Amino acid sequence: MPNVISCLLPGVDFDRAVEGLLGEADRVAKQLGLRHVAVTCSSSDVIQQYAASHSDRVVSVQSHDDLDYQPESCLAMLDAACAALEPRVVLLGQDTYSQELAPRLGYRLGGSSIGDAQQIDADGDRIRVHRSVYGGKATAVVQANVEPVVIWLRARAFSPEPERPNAAPVETEHFDLDGSGNANFQATQIVQRQHESAAGVRLEDAQAIVSGGRGLGGPEPFDELRKLAAVIGAELGASRAACDSGWVAPGLQVGQTGKKVAPELYLAVGISGASQHLMGIADAKVVAAINTDAEAPIFRHCQFGLVDDYRNVIGPLTERLVDLKSTSNE
Ligand SMILES: Cc1cc2nc3c(=O)[nH]c(=O)nc-3n(C[C@H](O)[C@H](O)[C@H](O)COP(=O)(O)OP(=O)(O)OC[C@H]3O[C@@H](n4cnc5c(N)ncnc54)[C@H](O)[C@@H]3O)c2cc1C
Repeated sequence: MPNVISCLLPGVDFDRAVEGLLGEADRVAKQLGLRHVAVTCSSSDVIQQYAASHSDRVVSVQSHDDLDYQPESCLAMLDAACAALEPRVVLLGQDTYSQELAPRLGYRLGGSSIGDAQQIDADGDRIRVHRSVYGGKATAVVQANVEPVVIWLRARAFSPEPERPNAAPVETEHFDLDGSGNANFQATQIVQRQHESAAGVRLEDAQAIVSGGRGLGGPEPFDELRKLAAVIGAELGASRAACDSGWVAPGLQVGQTGKKVAPELYLAVGISGASQHLMGIADAKVVAAINTDAEAPIFRHCQFGLVDDYRNVIGPLTERLVDLKSTSNE
């Protein structure tokens, strides 16, 4: 019987995106009358247990070697696991490896690949994927004409499903990945790792983000944004212009070539609202903007807008919020 397969790659942290991935695989399997098999390359117990209570079967894929995982080794393991599982649909997350692996896996399985899914359904016997295009201004519905179809999902676009009453059996598969039987294996190699000093929550998981752009004029005003963010429990983000100028770390960039975020509140300060930036905040629940230019595009994409110089707003707002917090704590 064909299966819907969810793939959890090595190094993936347990978060809402993982819950959403397993939830969507379960929903698609039910809709198509198929079984949901979770393929986990993760050594995380939390992920294994969650997968077991949200699927029909878990295949825990492990390598005999203690490998520094590369896309090639993941691809080899997923290829071998999926090929043995009669996939009709294979779902991956939004992380960099998944985005890289999806088309390669689709090709290896003799199927197709679709990226950035926000909704999956079936039209008769055909799998269809909905994804937003043109910076969220339109939705494209893409149909898979060749199966299996490998789809990577937009992070946090999908919600979890309730836990199943009985946990699925977990089978462990071991793979020897020494390169002998796989010409592509270790075609690339990590030669250096630089750890970002990442304090706080990942931007993708942040509930609130205060983001700054070129309008701030330099690195110093980002300290003001940091203070405001600390008071409201938000993370700091930035536009590409601010990151490219070296005012803040590149890892803070939000947008098409940065992070895709989905906070409850996104406050854009001195950001014009270019389509590439808006692509990263399409899933934000509430967008607020502060900008001196009343014609800035960001004002057409926010629920709350203030036409003003940020210098008149950020400092006094932070002070007022600190006062309110201390009063409410008394
Ligand atoms: C392929 C490609 C990918 C890209 N990917 C991304 C991406 O991932 N993320 C991204 O952000 N951009 C991306 N860009 C760049 C994008 O097109 C814009 O250039 C960029 O977003 C502009 O950043 P900004 O809004 O900070 O700067 P600007 O467009 O220069 O806007 C600055 C704003 O600040 C306002 N301002 C000025 N002074 C003040 C003040 N004192 N107080 C308040 N407001 C003030 C101005 O009115 C203006 O609206 C990409 C571009 C390309 C071509």
